[in-house]
Amino acid sequence: MSTCNQHHRHWPVLESLPHDQGGYGRHKCAGCAYELGYKAGLLRDERLHINLDSLLESQAGTARHRSPHAAFAKGYYDGVASSYSGS
Ligand SMILES: [Zn+2]
Repeated sequence: MSTCNQHHRHWPVLESLPHDQGGYGRHKCAGCAYELGYKAGLLRDERLHINLDSLLESQAGTARHRSPHAAFAKGYYDGVASSYSGS
């Protein structure tokens, strides 16, 4: 399993997400989950699938131990909002 080397771990948006205490997603990068959700939101994809196994492991930082489920949902919402404002 590889570790996320992107700048996700310092994203301020992730600070508002709930902590994933002891859940399966706690080692996953919430930033990657957010990006996945955001892309789906932009396309207004109707088949939401988080697929935790596809996410990279998180490093220390903001994204650590944040709920990837909440991150995905937040990303999806923001992506949908952007899809409307872009036209
Ligand atoms: Zn990441």
